[in-house]
Amino acid sequence: MTDPRIVYVVGCGHSGSTLLDMLVSTHSRIFSAGEAKMFRRQPDTVCTCGAERWQSCPFWKSVDERMRADGGPSLGHEDIEADDRDGFSGYNRRFFRAVSEESGCPVVLDSSKDFSRLKSFLNSDLRVDVIHLIRDPRGVAFSGLRKGRHIRGVSKKYVRTHVSAARALLDLPHIEVRYEDLARDPEREVARVVGFLGLEFESDQLAGWRRVERHNFGGNRMRLDDNETIKLDEAWRSEFSGWQRFSIWARTLPTRPRSRLGLALMRRLFG
Ligand SMILES: [Zn+2]
Repeated sequence: MTDPRIVYVVGCGHSGSTLLDMLVSTHSRIFSAGEAKMFRRQPDTVCTCGAERWQSCPFWKSVDERMRADGGPSLGHEDIEADDRDGFSGYNRRFFRAVSEESGCPVVLDSSKDFSRLKSFLNSDLRVDVIHLIRDPRGVAFSGLRKGRHIRGVSKKYVRTHVSAARALLDLPHIEVRYEDLARDPEREVARVVGFLGLEFESDQLAGWRRVERHNFGGNRMRLDDNETIKLDEAWRSEFSGWQRFSIWARTLPTRPRSRLGLALMRRLFG
């Protein structure tokens, strides 16, 4: 049995990963599992198909049966985030294989975003293609503040996630996607991602992108509505004070410049 191709999205929360996930998985050969980590962390999450939890979704019930028939534990078992290499590789191989078989798609997307999960993938014997999703830190911070977080904490996490991911990916093939580019020109950015995965962009894949049958698990609540309009969210421009904008810009300086040379230098100094 061949392994499916796993595509992992790494980036900060509030970076538009649900939008990216839903747009890319309109391709007929790509299926989105959503945020796979959520099967363990929040198993009672509503599935995008409308099922109240994965146990009442026909798709995920079948995936669970396939995994158990493959000799492994049930969907949602803690092994999905196992610390040891063999435990992680074994569980995730069974998970992605079952999702690929059940969906009929050779490529499966996992938008969990966490750097720790990326590290586990890179440490495992699974092949993973990586999309590094980046949003302007002021946009990330503005969404974070609306959820009661503070500029200092959000900025720190932003730097940690992006510097760690960029360093881990320095010598590995990956693609960077900026939320702002995706929202401004979805077709161009999705075509770029699909091309990176070695697939042809399907000219009609974004037409009616909400009407695809979906079971992506976890993510922003936008996955549950049917609005097809894609609008760049830059509310921070008018809502933040000059001082707030400056403070976030200064605190996230280590994420710039993003050149290979800059990252190589950073690795030499701090690696
Ligand atoms: Zn479902």
